[in-house]
Amino acid sequence: MNNLINIAIDGHSSCGKSTISKAICKKYKMIYIDTGSMYRAVTLFCLENNCISESFFDISKLLNLIDKCHVNFIYDRIDDSSKTFLNGRNVEDEIRSIRVSKFVSQIAKVPQIRKKLVDYQRNMGVDKNIVMDGRDIGSFVFPNAEIKFFVTADVLDRAKRRFLQLSINNDSISFDEVLENIKKRDQSDSTRSINPLIRAEDAILIDTTNVSIESQNKTIFKIINTYLANENRNR
Ligand code: C5P
Repeated sequence: MNNLINIAIDGHSSCGKSTISKAICKKYKMIYIDTGSMYRAVTLFCLENNCISESFFDISKLLNLIDKCHVNFIYDRIDDSSKTFLNGRNVEDEIRSIRVSKFVSQIAKVPQIRKKLVDYQRNMGVDKNIVMDGRDIGSFVFPNAEIKFFVTADVLDRAKRRFLQLSINNDSISFDEVLENIKKRDQSDSTRSINPLIRAEDAILIDTTNVSIESQNKTIFKIINTYLANENRNR
């Protein structure tokens, strides 16, 4: 049976939002939607179509091409996760590269791109049973989400985790580059004029610095169990 709730998870870059989201989905049989991967896929599309580089950003070219950019997710039974597809191609690994990370926050500032992706995200949540993570989910995409978390962690901790992930994927990059990228994205995501990263008033703060995944999940499951028990009582 579907849970008739949506859970919004927002927070800084690389603070463990997807780990938390996946754990919730596994336990409560909900569907995970990673909105960062949508912005990343659009960024890859821009790079591949020469709309952006270190020296220029051709927004009008991007907007002319945007109807040709189709992002979707396909569930992969082999590793029990969903993969991001760009125009029919599996781009799950490519969109995590530092090349994409360097440009994604610039793309995420474009109002027309945000509108397109937010419409898509809202559509995915109409039937509930969704765990969606991003930057503006609790504040803008689903302001009425039944449960909201705002996740953060010390920036050095976050950079270490990200560096480890990228090293596993053989992305040749230095720790300082990763740290710099995280700081830049946090700054850009929190200060942009449209749907910035903010903690919604009713979002529960989760700080994952020096906290084990087990202990972090325990806290989160307790909050969800309490909500679901109250909801059953009020039915
Ligand atoms: O979550 P992830 O780090 O993959 O997100 C990549 C980037 O996408 C963020 O740094 C941010 O610029 C953008 N983003 C956003 N709004 C969301 C999700 C991601 O602006 N809801």
